[in-house]
Amino acid sequence: MEKKQDEMPLMNVDEGIVLFHPYVPEEAIAEVTDTLRSRWIGQGPKVAKLEKIFEEKFSKEHSAIAVGSGTDALHLSYILADIGEGDEVISPVFTCTATNIPLLYQRAKIIFADIQKETLNIDPEHVRKLVNEKTKAIVCVHYGGLPCDMDEIRSIAGEYHIPVIEDAAQALGAKYKGKPIGSISEFTAFSFQAIKHITTGDGGMVAIKDNSLEEKAKRIRWFGIDRSAKQMGIWENDIKELGYKYQMTDIGAAVALASMNHFDWVLDYRQKLLQGYIDGLKGVDGVKVIGADYKDREHAAWICTVLVDERKDLMKKLRENKIESAQTHYRNDRYSLFGGRISLPNMDALEDRYLVLPLHPKMKLDDVDKICSVIKSGW
Ligand SMILES: *Cc1c(COP(=O)(O)O)cnc(C)c1O
Repeated sequence: MEKKQDEMPLMNVDEGIVLFHPYVPEEAIAEVTDTLRSRWIGQGPKVAKLEKIFEEKFSKEHSAIAVGSGTDALHLSYILADIGEGDEVISPVFTCTATNIPLLYQRAKIIFADIQKETLNIDPEHVRKLVNEKTKAIVCVHYGGLPCDMDEIRSIAGEYHIPVIEDAAQALGAKYKGKPIGSISEFTAFSFQAIKHITTGDGGMVAIKDNSLEEKAKRIRWFGIDRSAKQMGIWENDIKELGYKYQMTDIGAAVALASMNHFDWVLDYRQKLLQGYIDGLKGVDGVKVIGADYKDREHAAWICTVLVDERKDLMKKLRENKIESAQTHYRNDRYSLFGGRISLPNMDALEDRYLVLPLHPKMKLDDVDKICSVIKSGW
């Protein structure tokens, strides 16, 4: 039985407070122009520069490899983690479909784990019940930008000697116990899709703990060809492994390079907006903001999710006040592609109760106050 979606058509920006808005600083225009006037518009020096900056800022000792999307970053991670046909991979049921679809490219067997009610992140206690000798990897998603319980997840993975792949598409700039997300697990995938913290139009980055995999990652990103060996103009290379065309272009990297200079501000501002929701809705009956009050981790504040009753009515009320809201993500087992619905108690309890509210740098702090007072007036 297909559940009816609570979605409403998108709003125009001038109409009110929209849910998402891409962040592109003015300098990106000059940076892209510079690229367009140069000899390199595909993968060139700006991609290499972006990877270097990314390592310094986010992934630290882990190698950063730029790719064409967050989905590419995830697929590349799954390939490098040697996930193949029939391998069991534990992955959260509640996420963007991009987390799980590339597991099907590898013909893996997805074992959906339930979420935690407090964070909507993967529940390590359920992972503990699902893990077994056939488990090849654990995938976790930092939903909304709030880091998962990494110590618990990594400890289970450690016992079984399997890698953890973090989908950090929503968590650029987040920290767990002082460590930047991207510097912790075997693989971490980031996205620069249009509405993420930093955008390249479409793009992504994979951070790899084992630096010896860097060359392989670069080959898989380019058909399986060793591009560095080919520079002499003679073609003596063999292709031994199946690769893809997953590179980032310098046009995209140019936008990201300009945006990197603004990242600290963007993160700080997003966190302020989220804090505005947390403070504004504190003590309000029937509303709970997800991810408030964590002391051991830093929220990247990509979205603000609340738990409410009568979600559809609240969406209507917000819309009457020219405020957009949506579910944004859906439990993945609702799609027959993944084999159909299963019973997962926390997901079952919350699937009709979560709602995503506007959060992006084009908003003013006053907008959050306005949204909170609309919610407080009841629905
Ligand atoms: C955006 C997103 C992705 C996919 O990234 P793309 O760059 O659009 O391919 C994957 N996982 C999560 C959780 C996301 O939010």
